[in-house]
Amino acid sequence: MNRYGRRAKAGIGIKKGKGVSFMHEDGQTFRVRVAGWQNSRQVSFRGNSVAMEVARISCSHCATCAGRIHYVENALRGEGKRDYVGGGVIVSLPYPETLAKTPGVAAGFLSGKLGLSISAA
Ligand SMILES: [Zn+2]
Repeated sequence: MNRYGRRAKAGIGIKKGKGVSFMHEDGQTFRVRVAGWQNSRQVSFRGNSVAMEVARISCSHCATCAGRIHYVENALRGEGKRDYVGGGVIVSLPYPETLAKTPGVAAGFLSGKLGLSISAA
């Protein structure tokens, strides 16, 4: 259980050791940079949706992450869903079929949805 009182959903694992990942084994994963954010974030396509790490999984919601979560929640206005994994927050959104599943296109899509300036790392 995490501080939100929810369990991490099945199918989302945390790999110990070389970096932490929330991704499915078969997910197509890449990293993005967010303007003004120091650390890059993981993004993954999962079927017809795209998931992005908003609060870092290794972080237990410092004030910076809490502020970013709040910002993204406002931008999404209830759209998409959240997973709470290992202290981190993952936001998943339906990904339009008409868009190419490439890091650059996904970064542009996420920028619009999350109100952030996101680019492929
Ligand atoms: Zn943090």
